[in-house]
Amino acid sequence: MDGKSLAARVREHVAGEVAELGEIGLATVLVGDDPASEVYIGLKHRDCAEVGISAFDHRLPADTPEADVLALVERLNGDVTVDGLLVQTPVPQHLDEARILAAAAPGKDVDGLTPHNQGLLLLGRQAHVGATPLGVMRLLSEYRIPIAGARAVVVGRSPIVGKPMALLLLAANATVTICHSRTQDLARHTLDADVLVVGVGQPHLITEDMVRVGATVVDVGITRTDEGLLGDVDPGVAEVAAFLTPVPGGVGPMTRALLLESTIRAARYRRGLLPFS
Ligand code: NAP
Repeated sequence: MDGKSLAARVREHVAGEVAELGEIGLATVLVGDDPASEVYIGLKHRDCAEVGISAFDHRLPADTPEADVLALVERLNGDVTVDGLLVQTPVPQHLDEARILAAAAPGKDVDGLTPHNQGLLLLGRQAHVGATPLGVMRLLSEYRIPIAGARAVVVGRSPIVGKPMALLLLAANATVTICHSRTQDLARHTLDADVLVVGVGQPHLITEDMVRVGATVVDVGITRTDEGLLGDVDPGVAEVAAFLTPVPGGVGPMTRALLLESTIRAARYRRGLLPFS
Protein backbone atom coordinates (compact mmCIF):
# COMPACT_ATOMS: atom_id res chain seq x y z
CA MET A 1 0.00 0.00 0.00
CA ASP A 2 1.59 3.19 -1.22
CA GLY A 3 1.25 5.86 1.47
CA LYS A 4 3.47 8.29 -0.34
CA SER A 5 1.30 8.79 -3.39
CA LEU A 6 -1.95 8.79 -1.40
CA ALA A 7 -0.44 11.40 0.96
CA ALA A 8 0.43 13.57 -2.04
CA ARG A 9 -3.21 13.47 -3.12
CA VAL A 10 -4.39 14.34 0.40
CA ARG A 11 -2.02 17.34 0.44
CA GLU A 12 -3.32 18.51 -2.92
CA HIS A 13 -6.87 18.35 -1.61
CA VAL A 14 -5.87 20.21 1.58
CA ALA A 15 -4.21 22.96 -0.48
CA GLY A 16 -7.51 23.44 -2.31
CA GLU A 17 -9.37 23.72 1.02
CA VAL A 18 -6.87 26.28 2.32
CA ALA A 19 -7.51 28.36 -0.78
CA GLU A 20 -11.23 28.19 -0.01
CA LEU A 21 -11.10 28.84 3.75
CA GLY A 22 -8.43 31.55 3.80
CA GLU A 23 -5.77 32.03 6.47
CA ILE A 24 -5.30 28.86 8.59
CA GLY A 25 -2.82 28.49 11.44
CA LEU A 26 -1.17 25.53 13.17
CA ALA A 27 0.88 26.19 16.31
CA THR A 28 3.47 23.65 17.43
CA VAL A 29 5.13 23.60 20.85
CA LEU A 30 8.46 21.86 21.31
CA VAL A 31 9.98 21.72 24.78
CA GLY A 32 13.64 20.72 24.85
CA ASP A 33 15.93 19.54 22.08
CA ASP A 34 15.12 15.89 21.45
CA PRO A 35 16.65 15.33 17.98
CA ALA A 36 13.83 13.09 16.65
CA SER A 37 11.22 15.63 17.83
CA GLU A 38 13.12 18.41 16.07
CA VAL A 39 13.00 16.40 12.84
CA TYR A 40 9.25 15.79 13.21
CA ILE A 41 8.53 19.46 13.95
CA GLY A 42 10.65 20.50 10.96
CA LEU A 43 8.67 18.17 8.67
CA LYS A 44 5.33 19.44 10.00
CA HIS A 45 6.35 23.01 9.23
CA ARG A 46 7.54 22.06 5.76
CA ASP A 47 4.24 20.28 5.05
CA CYS A 48 2.25 23.31 6.25
CA ALA A 49 4.27 25.62 3.99
CA GLU A 50 3.60 23.35 1.02
CA VAL A 51 -0.19 23.58 1.37
CA GLY A 52 -0.37 27.22 2.49
CA ILE A 53 -1.07 26.71 6.21
CA SER A 54 0.72 29.23 8.48
CA ALA A 55 2.75 27.30 11.04
CA PHE A 56 3.85 28.95 14.29
CA ASP A 57 6.94 27.38 15.82
CA HIS A 58 7.10 27.75 19.62
CA ARG A 59 10.25 26.35 21.23
CA LEU A 60 10.98 26.33 24.93
CA PRO A 61 14.17 25.29 26.72
CA ALA A 62 14.27 21.79 28.24
CA ASP A 63 14.19 23.16 31.80
CA THR A 64 11.06 25.30 31.30
CA PRO A 65 8.79 25.10 34.37
CA GLU A 66 5.47 23.36 33.83
CA ALA A 67 3.52 26.53 34.63
CA ASP A 68 5.22 28.32 31.73
CA VAL A 69 4.41 25.53 29.27
CA LEU A 70 0.79 25.54 30.45
CA ALA A 71 0.65 29.33 30.13
CA LEU A 72 1.84 29.11 26.52
CA VAL A 73 -0.78 26.47 25.67
CA GLU A 74 -3.43 28.62 27.35
CA ARG A 75 -2.33 31.64 25.32
CA LEU A 76 -2.49 29.63 22.07
CA ASN A 77 -5.96 28.37 23.04
CA GLY A 78 -7.14 31.98 23.00
CA ASP A 79 -5.18 33.08 19.92
CA VAL A 80 -7.55 33.69 17.01
CA THR A 81 -4.81 33.11 14.44
CA VAL A 82 -4.33 29.56 15.76
CA ASP A 83 -6.76 26.94 14.44
CA GLY A 84 -4.82 23.80 15.40
CA LEU A 85 -2.40 23.27 18.25
CA LEU A 86 -0.06 20.44 19.21
CA VAL A 87 2.60 19.82 21.83
CA GLN A 88 5.31 17.52 20.50
CA THR A 89 5.88 14.43 22.67
CA PRO A 90 7.78 13.22 24.56
CA VAL A 91 8.15 16.27 26.82
CA PRO A 92 11.10 16.44 29.26
CA GLN A 93 10.83 14.18 32.32
CA HIS A 94 10.13 16.93 34.89
CA LEU A 95 6.89 17.84 33.12
CA ASP A 96 3.57 16.05 33.62
CA GLU A 97 2.87 15.13 29.99
CA ALA A 98 -0.75 14.16 30.59
CA ARG A 99 -1.49 17.51 32.23
CA ILE A 100 0.14 19.45 29.40
CA LEU A 101 -1.67 17.50 26.69
CA ALA A 102 -4.96 17.97 28.54
CA ALA A 103 -4.53 21.75 28.51
CA ALA A 104 -5.18 22.21 24.78
CA ALA A 105 -8.62 23.49 23.79
CA PRO A 106 -10.41 20.35 22.49
CA GLY A 107 -11.40 22.05 19.22
CA LYS A 108 -7.75 22.91 18.51
CA ASP A 109 -6.32 19.58 19.73
CA VAL A 110 -5.36 18.22 16.29
CA ASP A 111 -3.51 15.21 17.78
CA GLY A 112 -6.69 14.14 19.60
CA LEU A 113 -4.86 13.70 22.88
CA THR A 114 -7.04 15.68 25.27
CA PRO A 115 -9.28 13.58 27.52
CA HIS A 116 -12.24 15.26 25.78
CA ASN A 117 -11.27 13.98 22.33
CA GLN A 118 -10.16 10.57 23.62
CA GLY A 119 -13.53 10.31 25.39
CA LEU A 120 -15.45 11.21 22.24
CA LEU A 121 -13.54 8.52 20.36
CA LEU A 122 -14.41 5.99 23.04
CA LEU A 123 -18.06 6.97 22.67
CA GLY A 124 -17.82 6.49 18.91
CA ARG A 125 -18.33 10.21 18.25
CA GLN A 126 -15.05 11.19 16.68
CA ALA A 127 -13.90 14.79 16.72
CA HIS A 128 -10.11 15.14 16.60
CA VAL A 129 -8.33 11.78 16.31
CA GLY A 130 -4.57 11.29 16.00
CA ALA A 131 -3.19 11.55 12.47
CA THR A 132 -1.51 8.13 12.54
CA PRO A 133 -4.63 6.01 13.13
CA LEU A 134 -6.57 8.28 10.75
CA GLY A 135 -3.88 7.75 8.12
CA VAL A 136 -4.07 3.98 8.54
CA MET A 137 -7.87 4.03 8.14
CA ARG A 138 -7.52 6.15 4.98
CA LEU A 139 -5.03 3.67 3.51
CA LEU A 140 -7.32 0.73 4.29
CA SER A 141 -10.24 2.53 2.68
CA GLU A 142 -8.22 3.56 -0.38
CA TYR A 143 -7.25 -0.06 -0.99
CA ARG A 144 -10.82 -1.20 -0.30
CA ILE A 145 -9.80 -3.55 2.49
CA PRO A 146 -12.99 -4.95 4.07
CA ILE A 147 -13.16 -3.93 7.74
CA ALA A 148 -16.76 -4.64 8.82
CA GLY A 149 -16.84 -8.15 10.23
CA ALA A 150 -13.09 -8.62 9.73
CA ARG A 151 -10.81 -9.83 12.51
CA ALA A 152 -8.46 -6.93 13.26
CA VAL A 153 -5.46 -7.29 15.53
CA VAL A 154 -3.62 -4.21 16.80
CA VAL A 155 -0.19 -4.71 18.35
CA GLY A 156 0.61 -1.79 20.69
CA ARG A 157 -1.70 0.13 23.04
CA SER A 158 -0.26 3.64 23.30
CA PRO A 159 -2.69 6.59 23.48
CA ILE A 160 -1.29 7.96 20.20
CA VAL A 161 -1.24 4.78 18.07
CA GLY A 162 -2.62 1.50 19.40
CA LYS A 163 -5.68 2.55 21.42
CA PRO A 164 -7.17 5.04 18.93
CA MET A 165 -6.36 2.59 16.12
CA ALA A 166 -8.30 -0.17 17.86
CA LEU A 167 -11.24 2.16 18.52
CA LEU A 168 -11.41 3.32 14.89
CA LEU A 169 -11.37 -0.28 13.68
CA LEU A 170 -14.07 -1.13 16.22
CA ALA A 171 -16.15 1.85 15.05
CA ALA A 172 -15.79 0.45 11.52
CA ASN A 173 -17.26 -2.83 12.84
CA ALA A 174 -14.13 -5.00 12.95
CA THR A 175 -13.77 -7.54 15.74
CA VAL A 176 -10.72 -6.14 17.47
CA THR A 177 -7.97 -7.70 19.57
CA ILE A 178 -5.34 -5.50 21.21
CA CYS A 179 -1.91 -7.01 21.97
CA HIS A 180 0.88 -5.48 24.04
CA SER A 181 4.16 -6.29 25.78
CA ARG A 182 2.46 -8.64 28.26
CA THR A 183 0.55 -10.59 25.61
CA GLN A 184 1.45 -14.25 25.72
CA ASP A 185 2.02 -16.08 22.45
CA LEU A 186 1.70 -13.03 20.20
CA ALA A 187 1.72 -15.19 17.06
CA ARG A 188 -1.45 -16.97 18.14
CA HIS A 189 -3.25 -13.63 17.92
CA THR A 190 -1.53 -12.18 14.86
CA LEU A 191 -2.15 -15.38 12.87
CA ASP A 192 -5.85 -14.84 13.39
CA ALA A 193 -5.84 -11.37 11.82
CA ASP A 194 -7.48 -10.42 8.54
CA VAL A 195 -6.11 -6.95 9.24
CA LEU A 196 -2.96 -6.61 11.35
CA VAL A 197 -1.77 -3.17 12.50
CA VAL A 198 1.57 -3.08 14.30
CA GLY A 199 2.80 -0.04 16.26
CA VAL A 200 5.48 -1.18 18.71
CA GLY A 201 8.91 0.16 17.80
CA GLN A 202 10.78 -3.16 17.61
CA PRO A 203 12.33 -3.73 14.20
CA HIS A 204 11.02 -6.82 12.40
CA LEU A 205 9.05 -8.11 15.40
CA ILE A 206 6.42 -9.58 13.09
CA THR A 207 7.78 -12.34 10.88
CA GLU A 208 6.30 -14.30 8.00
CA ASP A 209 5.26 -17.23 10.21
CA MET A 210 3.11 -14.86 12.32
CA VAL A 211 0.87 -13.69 9.45
CA ARG A 212 -2.01 -15.48 7.77
CA VAL A 213 -1.86 -15.92 3.99
CA GLY A 214 -3.86 -13.12 2.35
CA ALA A 215 -3.88 -10.81 5.39
CA THR A 216 -3.53 -7.05 5.22
CA VAL A 217 -0.57 -5.81 7.27
CA VAL A 218 0.01 -2.19 8.28
CA ASP A 219 3.40 -1.34 9.73
CA VAL A 220 3.30 1.78 11.91
CA GLY A 221 6.68 1.16 13.54
CA ILE A 222 9.65 3.39 12.83
CA THR A 223 13.05 2.72 14.34
CA ARG A 224 16.08 4.72 13.25
CA THR A 225 19.12 2.50 12.74
CA ASP A 226 22.45 2.70 10.90
CA GLU A 227 20.74 0.82 8.07
CA GLY A 228 18.03 3.52 7.87
CA LEU A 229 14.41 3.46 9.06
CA LEU A 230 13.13 0.01 10.00
CA GLY A 231 9.54 -1.03 10.56
CA ASP A 232 8.09 -3.53 13.01
CA VAL A 233 7.30 -5.95 10.18
CA ASP A 234 9.93 -8.17 8.62
CA PRO A 235 10.11 -7.72 4.82
CA GLY A 236 9.56 -11.52 4.48
CA VAL A 237 5.90 -10.89 5.41
CA ALA A 238 5.42 -9.68 1.82
CA GLU A 239 5.51 -13.37 0.83
CA VAL A 240 2.26 -14.09 2.68
CA ALA A 241 0.38 -10.79 3.03
CA ALA A 242 -2.03 -9.63 0.34
CA PHE A 243 -1.37 -5.99 1.26
CA LEU A 244 1.55 -4.51 3.18
CA THR A 245 2.71 -0.95 3.91
CA PRO A 246 6.38 -0.23 3.30
CA VAL A 247 8.69 1.55 5.76
CA PRO A 248 9.46 4.21 4.76
CA GLY A 249 6.68 5.30 2.40
CA GLY A 250 3.65 3.77 4.10
CA VAL A 251 2.09 5.12 7.30
CA GLY A 252 4.69 7.89 7.85
CA PRO A 253 3.64 10.10 4.91
CA MET A 254 -0.03 9.44 5.70
CA THR A 255 0.44 10.65 9.28
CA ARG A 256 1.98 13.88 8.01
CA ALA A 257 -0.79 14.44 5.47
CA LEU A 258 -3.64 13.67 7.87
CA LEU A 259 -2.30 16.21 10.36
CA LEU A 260 -2.86 18.84 7.66
CA GLU A 261 -6.38 17.56 7.15
CA SER A 262 -7.01 17.71 10.92
CA THR A 263 -5.86 21.33 10.89
CA ILE A 264 -8.45 22.08 8.21
CA ARG A 265 -11.07 20.39 10.39
CA ALA A 266 -9.95 22.51 13.35
CA ALA A 267 -10.33 25.63 11.18
CA ARG A 268 -13.88 24.57 10.34
CA TYR A 269 -14.68 24.02 14.04
CA ARG A 270 -13.27 27.42 14.98
CA ARG A 271 -15.23 29.18 12.25
CA GLY A 272 -18.46 27.39 13.26
CA LEU A 273 -18.66 25.66 9.86
CA LEU A 274 -18.65 22.26 11.54
CA PRO A 275 -20.22 21.52 14.95
CA PHE A 276 -17.68 20.36 17.53
CA SER A 277 -19.22 17.68 19.71
P1 NAP B 1 5.03 3.35 22.68
O1 NAP B 1 4.28 4.40 23.39
O2 NAP B 1 6.41 2.96 23.13
O3 NAP B 1 4.12 2.03 22.66
C1 NAP B 1 4.61 0.82 22.20
C2 NAP B 1 3.57 -0.25 22.43
O4 NAP B 1 4.11 -1.50 21.99
C3 NAP B 1 3.19 -0.43 23.90
O5 NAP B 1 1.80 -0.57 24.01
C4 NAP B 1 3.90 -1.72 24.30
O6 NAP B 1 3.21 -2.48 25.27
C5 NAP B 1 3.91 -2.48 23.00
N1 NAP B 1 4.98 -3.47 22.95
C6 NAP B 1 6.27 -3.32 23.30
N2 NAP B 1 6.95 -4.47 23.10
C7 NAP B 1 6.06 -5.37 22.62
C8 NAP B 1 6.16 -6.71 22.23
N3 NAP B 1 7.30 -7.39 22.28
N4 NAP B 1 5.05 -7.35 21.79
C9 NAP B 1 3.87 -6.68 21.73
N5 NAP B 1 3.72 -5.38 22.08
C10 NAP B 1 4.82 -4.73 22.52
O7 NAP B 1 5.19 3.72 21.14
P2 NAP B 1 4.18 4.50 20.14
O8 NAP B 1 4.28 5.94 20.35
O9 NAP B 1 2.86 3.84 20.16
O10 NAP B 1 4.88 4.15 18.77
C11 NAP B 1 5.00 2.82 18.31
C12 NAP B 1 5.87 2.79 17.07
O11 NAP B 1 5.20 3.53 16.05
C13 NAP B 1 7.23 3.46 17.22
O12 NAP B 1 8.16 2.79 16.39
C14 NAP B 1 7.01 4.86 16.69
O13 NAP B 1 8.19 5.44 16.19
C15 NAP B 1 6.05 4.56 15.58
N6 NAP B 1 5.20 5.67 15.17
C16 NAP B 1 5.09 5.87 13.85
C17 NAP B 1 4.28 6.86 13.39
C18 NAP B 1 4.15 7.03 11.91
O14 NAP B 1 3.72 8.04 11.45
N7 NAP B 1 4.48 6.00 11.12
C19 NAP B 1 3.58 7.67 14.27
C20 NAP B 1 3.67 7.43 15.63
C21 NAP B 1 4.49 6.41 16.07
P3 NAP B 1 2.97 -1.97 26.78
O15 NAP B 1 1.83 -1.01 26.70
O16 NAP B 1 2.64 -3.21 27.50
O17 NAP B 1 4.26 -1.32 27.21
